[in-house]
Amino acid sequence: MADLIEQRDKGLYCAVGDFWIDPWEPVEHAVITHAHSDHAKAGHRRYLTMADGVELLRLRLGSDITVRGAAYGEGIDINGVQVSLHPAGHMLGSAQVRVEHKGQVAGVSGDYKVRPDPTCPTFEPVPCNLFISEATFALPIYRWADSSEVFAEINAWWRGNQAVGKTSVLFTYALGKAQRVLAEIDNSIGPIFAHGALMRYEAAYTAAGVRQPPLTYCEASAVRAQNGAALVMAPPSALGTPWMRKLGKVSTAFASGWMTVRGRRRQRGVDRGFILSDHADWNGLIEAITATGAEKVLLTHGYSAALARWLREMKGIDAATLVTRYGDEDDDADGSPERAAS
Ligand SMILES: [Zn+2]
Ligand SMILES: [Zn+2]
Repeated sequence: MADLIEQRDKGLYCAVGDFWIDPWEPVEHAVITHAHSDHAKAGHRRYLTMADGVELLRLRLGSDITVRGAAYGEGIDINGVQVSLHPAGHMLGSAQVRVEHKGQVAGVSGDYKVRPDPTCPTFEPVPCNLFISEATFALPIYRWADSSEVFAEINAWWRGNQAVGKTSVLFTYALGKAQRVLAEIDNSIGPIFAHGALMRYEAAYTAAGVRQPPLTYCEASAVRAQNGAALVMAPPSALGTPWMRKLGKVSTAFASGWMTVRGRRRQRGVDRGFILSDHADWNGLIEAITATGAEKVLLTHGYSAALARWLREMKGIDAATLVTRYGDEDDDADGSPERAAS
């Protein structure tokens, strides 16, 4: 029997329901797991996404898209196929897609993490026969510390910079990671400024009920007037640009799962690297995949071959890799709408 979800030229496709999940080429009907640029492309005729992600999709793809928002767990019939969205814990509005037809269930994870995140509900395993999982950080070297530990380091770095009169500039991916950092950082330390690329998402987050600290648009003169007391949040695309040089004396840092690898920090040319990811680490991936009980697993993103081999050898799961066009948003030097906004 054919799989309920298969790979086609334009993306992941459900033939019985005639719809696509995170397609990379324009299609009639697209179900979108979340608003990151490698999953949410422009040009589809109709979109379905989790309700909290609707505004984010409009901000990234244009206010004129035809998009329907669904609550987590809400049953939706698409040409006789039962579709529902379930928490992926990756960012605001992120969802796994559950597809059911004639007793067969497929789950498509999108990007996910299993650790808690104050900006979205925690990942919920979806029991299924076929699970299509991301594998961005699927190597045993990737193991995340509790976020309380990481934020203690970030807060200490900010305080330390204040003591020597240097503005703290923290680079994070503009959508998702930035708002998570803002929700978890100790904002009593000092004033927080944000680059325009991040600022544009704030209203959507607060409208969805996510707590965010007071933010000021990052005017260089206003930052310099704080004499090093301020934290500036900026996207990776702002690194090394003339904009940065206007801020005066700074200490720079990058927050990403890739900071596990020392060379990546040097490559970015920042003073500090904080290991903070919105993807599952090695243990998280194995925990999430085995919790689905799936007999067949297909892997996308990152180290998918390593994880497929491990699942075959250690768990006896029929696991293989899928060649997709999904990437890692940390490395995807931001979608063009953000560039335009900055
Ligand atoms: Zn993502
Ligand atoms: Zn992705």
